[in-house]
Amino acid sequence: KTVLHWFRSKDLRINDNRALDAASKIAKENKAPLITAYLYSPKDLEWHGTSPARSDFIIECLRLMREQLSEKHIPLAIIEAPERGDKTEQIVSFVKNNDVSHVYANLEYEVDELRRDKKITVQLKDAGIAVELVHDQTVLEPGVILNGSGGPHKVFTPYHKAWLSKISSSPDLLDLYSDPEPNEKSVLSKYRPLFDTALPSLPENKQFGSKDERDRIRRLWPAGHDAGMARLEHFVTNKLQTYAETRSNPAKDSTSRLSPYFSSGAISVREALNMARKQNGGSTDFSESSGNRGLAAWVREIVFREFYRQVVVITPHTVMNLPQNLKFNFVQWEDDKEGWEKWCGGNTGVPLIDAGMRHLKEEAWMHNRLRMNTASYLRNNLLIDYRRGERYFAEHLVDWDVCNNTQGWEPSYTVFNPVSQAERNDKDGEYIRRWVKELRDVEGKAVFAPHERLSKSEFEKLGYPRPHVDFNETKERAVARYKRDLHRA
Ligand code: FAD
Repeated sequence: KTVLHWFRSKDLRINDNRALDAASKIAKENKAPLITAYLYSPKDLEWHGTSPARSDFIIECLRLMREQLSEKHIPLAIIEAPERGDKTEQIVSFVKNNDVSHVYANLEYEVDELRRDKKITVQLKDAGIAVELVHDQTVLEPGVILNGSGGPHKVFTPYHKAWLSKISSSPDLLDLYSDPEPNEKSVLSKYRPLFDTALPSLPENKQFGSKDERDRIRRLWPAGHDAGMARLEHFVTNKLQTYAETRSNPAKDSTSRLSPYFSSGAISVREALNMARKQNGGSTDFSESSGNRGLAAWVREIVFREFYRQVVVITPHTVMNLPQNLKFNFVQWEDDKEGWEKWCGGNTGVPLIDAGMRHLKEEAWMHNRLRMNTASYLRNNLLIDYRRGERYFAEHLVDWDVCNNTQGWEPSYTVFNPVSQAERNDKDGEYIRRWVKELRDVEGKAVFAPHERLSKSEFEKLGYPRPHVDFNETKERAVARYKRDLHRA
């Protein structure tokens, strides 16, 4: 008999991996070999629109993990499901063919994934195979901290407060799980075919535009646990302290850029918070009152990540193409084809928006401030269905994470003014000049709204587009539309 750990796209590491540790312990207890597998579904990548950058990052993580696991004589088999509907059958037959007695995996919270796991669990349990699904994506599993009426928090601020108090009083929540124990060497020859299953390659429709692009993305986002930990250490040592003051300025490289590592699980949130704890003199008081403002502000973002997983558990429709506030499903959106093309290409004529969208194409990543502004511009000023933007982000981001992305795109009445946002957060226009080359030589505050602040002839010389829409008019249009359509709901 063997014990199986089943990796998903959100726990791609062997360190501090809760289900893998549990699988390793049972294997040891039963004197059984530990085997691991990853279910690769190219049709899933297509279905979700997963970007080439993220698809490649995942494959690279698998390659590195296989090397690490092989040193411990633990195979990492790749099970390929040609069609989305094949997944249950593929896993069940793999389990049966490899004489597995126990299956371990870390939970995924999206509806399709939960349904898949339920189906598989029922079939395996019927066949007498034990299945254990555990929480690992967050420090506090969804639903464990309750509000005054005994239900899960639905509002961030009280959730954040309760989260901080829980971690402060229970530092053991940050204890790391052990790495898996090595198998005996004989496993190498006995299970050779599992060690030798081909690693996935990028499907035809997920190829990068060129080899140069692939190399650039890999340099920016080196895959794997070690690269993630090095980045974490660099951030905590050099940038955490000033994060509260600098994080909103997209020109300064002041955030951690750890999102691809968190979204694929290449590093765990426990590992990140342990590093932060060290910088906090060993204390798990991550609140403002610890006096460590940078740390408090950064941990707050991590708590957003935790909260958004809870939101998906409480309101599963948010990952089924529906807004959390269902009234927004009644909005009649516009089909502004030209606006859409301009938004995607970074040619809206609004410097901050164009800078963000060009940045996304070049680096497969965007700063949070830009995500908020470009999303607001698409759904409010262009009044284009926000789900198209959500999908476009999935198709381009290296860190695509369905919980964070859908919550980030959640429609609301808030309309960001991209000119004042730029003046406040990119004070010197450095970020705009970096990404919008037509504006590189525009001096002073004209860079924020060149069509208004330069003379007609100066503006025309730039070769930069005029704004596709008028900000104030479209803001009013959006508010009026929401009032009309939400009221109808
Ligand atoms: P840091 O500022 O260093 O923060 C540390 C970590 O906290 C991040 O890596 C991330 O895991 C988490 N985090 C930070 N900000 C947020 C936030 N607002 N919400 C939830 N978690 C957060 N994040 C993704 O990981 N994947 C996405 O697909 C994604 N899509 C987004 C779409 C929109 C429209 C918006 C407004 C936000 C989105 N975010 C997404 C959240 C956020 O923009 C990114 O997590 C952040 O910019 C990543 O940069 P960083 O790692 O340097 O963050």
